[in-house]
Amino acid sequence: MSDTARLAEPVTGHCLCGAVTITVTAMRCEVDICHCGMCQRWGGVFYAGVKGEAAEVTGEDAVTVYRSSQWAERAFCGTCGSNLWYRFLPTGNRSFLAGLFDLPKGFGIEQQIFVDEKPDWYDIARESPMLTGPEVIAEAKAHGFSFD
Ligand SMILES: [Zn+2]
Ligand SMILES: [Zn+2]
Repeated sequence: MSDTARLAEPVTGHCLCGAVTITVTAMRCEVDICHCGMCQRWGGVFYAGVKGEAAEVTGEDAVTVYRSSQWAERAFCGTCGSNLWYRFLPTGNRSFLAGLFDLPKGFGIEQQIFVDEKPDWYDIARESPMLTGPEVIAEAKAHGFSFD
């Protein structure tokens, strides 16, 4: 999906208390949604992340990083508790919580993953590709990532 539109200007977001700011350049105009049980426990509901080409973080002293699994870490502000990012360790790629930024209208949804773990009390109305957990893992294994 390399043809996805990107924001022309860098966009800066911040946590609830403002101790941490994150500036993302060339942000893709779509969110990535994960309904897995870990994301629900982490944020209370599904995870919605945004990605760009590069990111600059200020206030690193306030950031706490939690290694949530063999292949991922999750960061949050140690002062206000706002979740900040999810990093997939095999690639080092981070996605940042969409809610940290004042995003312009018009963002799409790249995909929704782990839809088989989604509780039945909500649905996201906008049409988007949906993958179950086993489908996500099979796709990652096809790219050479190991989850064992
Ligand atoms: Zn904070
Ligand atoms: Zn998840």
